[in-house]
Amino acid sequence: MKPVDRHLADILAAVRPLAPLEVEIEAALGAVLAEDVASPVPLPPFDNSAMDGYAVRAEDVAAAPVTLPVIGDVAAGDGGLNALGPGLVTRIMTGAPLPAGADAVVPVEWTDGGTARVRIDRPAPSGNAIRRAGEDVRAGDVVLREGARIGPAQVGILAGVGRRRVLVRPRPRVVVLSTGAELAEPGTPLGAGRIWESNSFMLAAAVREAGAEGFRAGSVTDDPKEFMDTLDAQLLRADAVITSGGVSMGAYEPVKEALSPLGTVTFEKVAMQPGMPQGFGVVGPDRVPIFTLPGNPVSSFVSFVLFVKPALRAMQGLPAGPPPAVRATTTAPLRSPAGKRSYLRAVLAGETVAPVTRQGSHQLAALAGANALIVVPEDVTSLPEGAEVEVIPL
Ligand code: AMP
Ligand code: MG
Repeated sequence: MKPVDRHLADILAAVRPLAPLEVEIEAALGAVLAEDVASPVPLPPFDNSAMDGYAVRAEDVAAAPVTLPVIGDVAAGDGGLNALGPGLVTRIMTGAPLPAGADAVVPVEWTDGGTARVRIDRPAPSGNAIRRAGEDVRAGDVVLREGARIGPAQVGILAGVGRRRVLVRPRPRVVVLSTGAELAEPGTPLGAGRIWESNSFMLAAAVREAGAEGFRAGSVTDDPKEFMDTLDAQLLRADAVITSGGVSMGAYEPVKEALSPLGTVTFEKVAMQPGMPQGFGVVGPDRVPIFTLPGNPVSSFVSFVLFVKPALRAMQGLPAGPPPAVRATTTAPLRSPAGKRSYLRAVLAGETVAPVTRQGSHQLAALAGANALIVVPEDVTSLPEGAEVEVIPL
C-alpha cells in the first residue's frame, strides 16, 4: 500500500498555482494576492485634525484660560488654506487639513464653542490631536505582500491606497460530483434501499471553507457512461474536480471503470483508515486535476482534509503540506490496524482529546460531533489511555 505522505507528495507535485488574474477590488475577497501592493502617497496624505475643535498655535494657549478671535472654519475636504497668524485660531473639523502656522488642535470640549471669539479653558501642547502625514504608511511602503489572503480589511487598504483593480490568484472553481445508484436528493422521499446524498454537499462546503469555489454537480448513478458525460459537461467550468464513490474493489464502480482506460488517473490503495481506495490524476484537454475519493462519507471527508485541501492551497499559490497538527493526551485507549495510519474522530478540548465511540467510516453523525482527528501511526496498533498523540484540529 502507498504511504499517505507519498500520495500527498504526488498530488502536490502535479498541481500548479492558477494563473494570476486582474480583478476589481470588490471581487477580490477570499482571493490570494499575486503582487506586492505599495502606496503611491503617504497615509494620511497631509497633517490633519484628529478631533473637532480649534487649530491654534500652542504658545497662544499656554496661559489658558484665554479668549482668542476665530478667523474662520476649516472642514474636511478643504484645500488652499491661508496660514494662521499669531494670536488667531480657526475652527477645524476631524480630517480637515491643518493650516500652516497652527501646531495644535484644542478639542471643542475644552472651549465654550464660540464662533467669533472662543474661550479656551485648557492649554494644548504642540502636536495635540494632530494626525501626521505618513504616520500610517509612508509613500512607497508595501502595505500588502504577494501571497496574502484578501479579507475585508485587505479590501479596505487596497481602496485606501487608491487601487481599483488588483492582481490575484483566483479562487479555484471546484466541481463536486457524487456517484451511487442508491443516492436520493435530500428533500425527496427515500425509496427502498436508498440513502440521502450527503457527500457532495459536505465536500462543496469544505471546498468553500478552504477558500475556493465549490459547485455541487449533484449525483449520477453507477453507469460509467452517465458519469463520463456529466464529467465532460462539468469540465468547462472546473479548475479541479472531486468525485465521491465508485472507486472500491466491488462491481458497479463507475468512476474507476470510466477513468481507468484514460491512463491519466491512477487508482491506488493508500495505507490509511478510513479512506484506503484513492484516485488522483488529470482529465480533459486542459488536464484538470481530479480527486476520486471513496464514497463512505467519513472516508471522503478525511481524504479531503489530507489531500484536497493542501492541493487547493497550492493552486492558490499558498504554502501547502500536511494539515497542521497539535499534540494532546488521549482520554481513552485507542486501537488501530497494523500497517495503516488511522484518523480517529475525536473531541479536542485543550490538552486532552477524547475519541468518539462510533468510528465507522459510514458514521457521519459521529463525525459531525467531532472537532478533531487523532492520528495513530502505521506501526502502532494500540495506545493506552493517557498516551500523547498527534491531533489534527478540524
Ligand atoms: P462506494 O465508494 O461507492 O462503494 O460507496 C461506499 C459507501 O458510501 C456506500 O455505503 C455508499 O452508499 C456510501 N456513499 C457513497 N456515496 C455517497 C454519498 N454521496 N452520500 C452518502 N453516502 C454515500
Ligand atoms: Mg457506490
